[in-house]
Amino acid sequence: MIYQQALSAPYTELSEEELASRARAARAALGDRVVVLAHHYQRPEVVTFGDFRGDSLKLAQLAATQEKADFVVYCGVHFMAESADILKRGSQQVILPDLGAGCDMADMAEADDVADAWDELVAVHPESDLLPVTYINSTAALKAFVGKKGGVVCTSSNAQRIVKWALDLGKRVFFFPDQHLGRNTCRSLGMSLEEMVLWDPEQTQGGLSDASVKEARVFLWKGHCPVHMMFSAKQVQALRARDRHIKVIAHPECAMDVVDLADEVGSTEFIVNTIAKSAPGSSWAVGTEMNLVNRIAAENPDKRVVSINPFMCLCGTMNRIDLAHLAWSLENLVAGRLENVISVEGEDRAFAKLALERMLEMSV
Ligand code: SF4
Repeated sequence: MIYQQALSAPYTELSEEELASRARAARAALGDRVVVLAHHYQRPEVVTFGDFRGDSLKLAQLAATQEKADFVVYCGVHFMAESADILKRGSQQVILPDLGAGCDMADMAEADDVADAWDELVAVHPESDLLPVTYINSTAALKAFVGKKGGVVCTSSNAQRIVKWALDLGKRVFFFPDQHLGRNTCRSLGMSLEEMVLWDPEQTQGGLSDASVKEARVFLWKGHCPVHMMFSAKQVQALRARDRHIKVIAHPECAMDVVDLADEVGSTEFIVNTIAKSAPGSSWAVGTEMNLVNRIAAENPDKRVVSINPFMCLCGTMNRIDLAHLAWSLENLVAGRLENVISVEGEDRAFAKLALERMLEMSV
């Protein structure tokens, strides 16, 4: 866990308007030397400052095309800034405005624990039969482990293609950190639940019997996104009972029973584009983070857009990045102070890059 030093005055004392004004002034002073990236799940007042808005991979790739930008201010979470640092060109410095902006899901799979689990699997299966796949929502150390073992990174957009590729090679897939993306992806490929098992890192041999470990085609790490766990099949049914025309669109990090009931399933980019292209007057219930749902609703005033669960679903860690931290980061850069630089070094960098590049090669 990485902790952010507490901000002090004046950032703790200024109004939102004053913070926005200072951030704007600093942004203008930096000009082309900085690019600000805003993930879809960011607060609206932070998104306003984004030169680009999108999902984590798209933002990292866009930052790398900004040749004049010495600094990349990444309004997202830690693993996203790591990916931007790994994929950057030249000597860009990637800044995370609040070091406390981590990802609960990524933190559920530490590279050392995964390496231990791998050793337990290798005690049963030849290593050449196994292939690790990590969701991009994972630490650079875990991506490096995957790269070293011949595996690959995936996103919620390309998970189906990557997992299919691995299964077509005849491999048994070890998928982490998100059991739900793994399960939903394998089911979309026609695999039965009996062919996949849940690996609980808290238990010896993942809590599985010898026979299960021997027979399973896919091992799903017991991790999840707390935000996407807050949608339920009951909520979907209640929405449909009230509006039989409502369409349900869910992120594949949602649980299987929610995904099974959804009309459409896909990544944040897919959700944004699908609703934008839908017919005026249509109604949508969305299963993803609330800031994004609210933004889609605001940008599609000719449609009705609600959350599957209207009472929550903000990503607490993502939302640690606020105007105060953004203004602080930009003003630091104007003053020539480098704070909160995210840098992946050495072997981790080389192997994590390899795992990311394997994915990019398969995505063209
Ligand atoms: S929404 Fe979930 S997966 Fe995304 S950053 Fe937050 S905790 Fe991580």
